[in-house]
Amino acid sequence: MAAPPRPESLALLDRLMAALEAKGVVTEAEIAERQANTDKASPETGARMVARAWTDPAYRALLLSDGKAAAEQMGVSMAGAPPLGVLENTPARHHLVVCTLCSCYPRAVLGYPPGWYKSFAYRSRAVREPRVVLAEWGLNLPDSVEVRVVDSTADYRWMVLPMRPAGTEGWDEARLASIITRDALVGVAVPKVAGPRPAA
Ligand code: FE
Repeated sequence: MAAPPRPESLALLDRLMAALEAKGVVTEAEIAERQANTDKASPETGARMVARAWTDPAYRALLLSDGKAAAEQMGVSMAGAPPLGVLENTPARHHLVVCTLCSCYPRAVLGYPPGWYKSFAYRSRAVREPRVVLAEWGLNLPDSVEVRVVDSTADYRWMVLPMRPAGTEGWDEARLASIITRDALVGVAVPKVAGPRPAA
């Protein structure tokens, strides 16, 4: 649990806000709107975007070229938000998202980051030993798969477009979205089809 802000921190924040507003950088109303948008956001939004990309090639192309536009097409307000890059996982390459500095996260489409994402352990180990971290999450990638770790920053946010798993042929968008978890959208997991695997 974070400590409550101290009075001097709040006074400093007030002065910073006044300076930003005086310089026309941002208004209090814009900040309140961003905060309200984040409060409303959840990983379901990112999951819907991925499910649509899995079923609609034109949307997939948009998602990969301009994540912000793709989010707006799903009704998400991206006003004032940093650009959103979308990383396509393939059989040869897996992406893992981290903010090495603090907690930068695609909040507009995933909501607030989970506690572990902000932890020093994740921020440092994701870079140093990503395969070990993924294995601890239960994701064992073969050596043939390249793991690319991508640093999310204040200026650019990233999310992952996971691969559509086998066994989902003919599923509609809502059913597809139901197997796309928050963790899969930052690359610490991959979508799975629940239930016993059919015999090969
Ligand atoms: Fe950050």
